[in-house]
Amino acid sequence: MKDLQQQGYSAFLNDYFQEHSDLFAQLSKGQKPHTMIITCSDSRINPALLLNAQPGEIFISRNIGNVVPPYQPESGSTQAAIEYAVNVLEIPKIIILGHSNCGACAHMYHEHKEGEPELKHVGTWLKNIEPAKNLAVLELHHDSSKNIFELTEKHNVITSLQRLMEYPYILKRLLKDKIELEGWWFDIGTGKAEIYNFATRHFEPIIEK
Ligand SMILES: [Zn+2]
Repeated sequence: MKDLQQQGYSAFLNDYFQEHSDLFAQLSKGQKPHTMIITCSDSRINPALLLNAQPGEIFISRNIGNVVPPYQPESGSTQAAIEYAVNVLEIPKIIILGHSNCGACAHMYHEHKEGEPELKHVGTWLKNIEPAKNLAVLELHHDSSKNIFELTEKHNVITSLQRLMEYPYILKRLLKDKIELEGWWFDIGTGKAEIYNFATRHFEPIIEK
């Protein structure tokens, strides 16, 4: 395993931090990120790298499966991050960033076998993805050429966008054009990213190669 102190932190401190010391000095006074990203905990997804963003630019909330849970009075980590990002930092854009080969979405089709670990918390959390799974299964029923996992990942992004409408302060801002919502899907193997087009109801390439 990589030596995190010597090869990791030391390299950051001597290289990146030195080069950007003015930026860090400025950021020590406060943050004004332009975008909130809600994405998966998956180690292969690095929003800052993907968007070529520097520290201070993006406010990130990660969870298993890039889920926006339903709005409810009981607080959860993701709900708290959204509330803070929108009401305190007044971030004008939220991107739900889903991805290919998502273990959370694939888990929706996994049948528990004897001897496998009991994933109690994962199972409870993934109930949030059930509406997306149902839509994916329905769509596959009408077009069997599609990939059930990719369908689930994409419907999961759309479902999360819809759930943001349940957050009253987001709906209010959207109606006043004070916030933008986007749904992205990133393909790990190719680097290709697609964005959900609300008018056509399809994901489309962000940049045509
Ligand atoms: Zn994932």
